[in-house]
Amino acid sequence: MTFERLIEIKKLLNEYNYQYYVLDNPSVSDQEYDRLMQELQAIENQHPEWLTADSPSQRVGGQVLDSFTKITHERMMLSLGNIFNEDELMAFDERVRETYPNVEYVCELKIDGLAVSLVYADGRLDYAATRGDGTVGEDITHNVKTIKSIPLTIDYDGDFEVRGEIFMPKKSFNELNEERAKAGEALFANPRNAAAGSVRQLDSTIAAKRKLDAFLYMVPTATEVGCTTHKEALDYIKELGFKTNPMTHVSSDIQDVWAFIQEMTEKRDTLPYEIDGIVIKVNNLEEQVRLGYTAKVPKWAIAYKFPAEEVVTKLKDIIFTI
Ligand code: NAD
Repeated sequence: MTFERLIEIKKLLNEYNYQYYVLDNPSVSDQEYDRLMQELQAIENQHPEWLTADSPSQRVGGQVLDSFTKITHERMMLSLGNIFNEDELMAFDERVRETYPNVEYVCELKIDGLAVSLVYADGRLDYAATRGDGTVGEDITHNVKTIKSIPLTIDYDGDFEVRGEIFMPKKSFNELNEERAKAGEALFANPRNAAAGSVRQLDSTIAAKRKLDAFLYMVPTATEVGCTTHKEALDYIKELGFKTNPMTHVSSDIQDVWAFIQEMTEKRDTLPYEIDGIVIKVNNLEEQVRLGYTAKVPKWAIAYKFPAEEVVTKLKDIIFTI
């Protein structure tokens, strides 16, 4: 582990971040990216004196494009910490149980799309924004309005924010790529990139044709609307007319959480949309607040990422545009 290797990894990760978040055109697989990020974090843990504020390990991810109006999020949109195996899940559970021995978890599918914040004012969709760098996102309201499963009005007085994931169903993705192949156009590498490319169009007629969808999974002000658990918040937004994912699993037994992860690993190919893992969240909202955040991610939630399925080099053969 040399200082030169640190510089090399940082350079690579900066390049990959730019390709992924700005161009929506990755050149390496997510697994390769995650592996490098883990290597970087390991070096920085061993040599804290080498850690700099501009290290890729310190970013939430995402860079704001100039062509869209920027929106400053009222509350930061953070990413999630990643784990890759059972031991890391057990370590997460142990950390949480030091404070809450009887903790209850909610397991959710990790939808492979892009995070969105929807803000309603007196029941009308006021604006929709991407996560961007977590503090400042892009205004994508014109495109989000074309997503049929997102309500334009809800029964709610005052300001209301709900967050979730915009995604492209596998069927829409395959149709889109078939059309593009016929037209001799470059193909999208995966549904996530196709969805991100679609909401970043300046002309909303393009997004409207792309058959996007959205699952909502978070209410930043859940306690203010009377919820005490995350599961109640999910039920609350479902009542309001938002699409929530039905495959949510609540359990206080970490072995049972691991069993759910394994079950979904088997079933993921049968789902009509892509998932890249399982998100495990502390259910009780007060416990979430007390557990708090690190500089980058919540301590009350973690994302388990599925092992690699695709071959790295495959991505490099596909050139695509947004
Ligand atoms: P992430 O994908 O590791 O996880 C956080 C995101 O998960 C959230 O922001 C949200 O958008 C999403 N999510 C989906 N379902 C959710 C649910 N039920 N509850 C909460 N959140 C949910 O983090 P990220 O910062 O969006 O992306 C980083 C990842 O992107 C990396 O780990 C890597 O896999 C990939 N990446 C790849 C490249 C590349 O070149 N291939 C480059 C950069 C990043």
